Amino acid sequence: MKPSESPIDLKDFSKRAFEALGSVVEEWGAAGLDVLVADDLVSYFRGQDILRLSFSPLEASERDETQRVTLGSPVLEGLLHVLSNKGLLARAYLNPLHAESRNVEEKFARKFHWENAKPYLKSSSLEETGRACFQFKVSFLSDDRIERLYLISVNLTTFLEEVRLLREWDLLFFEHERRYEGVAAFCLPDVDRVSERAVVFLRKRISPELENMKAFQEKFLKRDLLRIGDYYHELFREIGRKEAKAEGDPSLLDRVRKRKTAVALDRQKKIRDAVEKYRLDVRAEIVNLLILYQPWMRCVFGFKSRSGDLERVFYWDPVLKDFSDYACEQCQIPSSTFMVRGPKFICLKCKEVKDENIRMAHAQS
Ligand SMILES: [Zn+2]
Repeated sequence: MKPSESPIDLKDFSKRAFEALGSVVEEWGAAGLDVLVADDLVSYFRGQDILRLSFSPLEASERDETQRVTLGSPVLEGLLHVLSNKGLLARAYLNPLHAESRNVEEKFARKFHWENAKPYLKSSSLEETGRACFQFKVSFLSDDRIERLYLISVNLTTFLEEVRLLREWDLLFFEHERRYEGVAAFCLPDVDRVSERAVVFLRKRISPELENMKAFQEKFLKRDLLRIGDYYHELFREIGRKEAKAEGDPSLLDRVRKRKTAVALDRQKKIRDAVEKYRLDVRAEIVNLLILYQPWMRCVFGFKSRSGDLERVFYWDPVLKDFSDYACEQCQIPSSTFMVRGPKFICLKCKEVKDENIRMAHAQS
């Protein structure tokens, strides 16, 4: 399964969700669920208290009363509606075999570089981290409707996007129980801050596709506008000729001028319609949210530099077997090579910009 497709088994998701909401669920066949809907939820499912659900296209066709569950089907919409109203989400754990790593300094030196500082490990400890994995359904609406699913993962400790996690999604082993001990439970941060970050990452992700679609729409709009322009240009020339002929006949001239006004209004309307037709609207909604927990190693590194001794926290991820990304303290974009500038760690791009600014300031003075 690719990250852009549904990362979560719909049947499993629905089963757990219905159960968590107090309904009784029984499996049937290879991909079916019978649900005795909890009383307080019946209104979300069009008043039905018993649901026979199928998650396979084959089984659904055999039985009349069976409802096929797909993304966007009434049952799933109802379920997501309840879940969002009740503030319930799916939760899973990644349980690494070994949470702690040896040779942390070596691994660190392989991932990160400092041009003017020397890092050394000061201390390390185990911590739990969480990440919010949002599945967004994005609708691109114009005269056509295109829908796509996007999976976005935000680390809830660093608030950085976890692209690497999504790339390895297929290889991850999700469990519903926590199998590590001696680590304090992770406290979920403020939900607004998390969704704000998720939306920033989603915007970035859809931007190439959106630009493509915009260019496509603009091409067609331009073509239509040219066509409209040509058509009315001809029409106005003809009206101009009639106007010239009607000189000296006030009643005919009046009629021709009224026609001219009507045609001008008509042209405006045609242009407005064309612009409206190719207007691109984008709407996004969360269809799923998975909170993923795991332990990781909090490593405090010291840095000897000309600005003195600095200290920063980095995280070793035992599931991805890599250090978690670190963002430039100037532009907030993750990087692997840094410069110490005053109290900040900045990436090489920001360093160039700063150098350029200094040169400009010197040139001006
Ligand atoms: Zn930067």
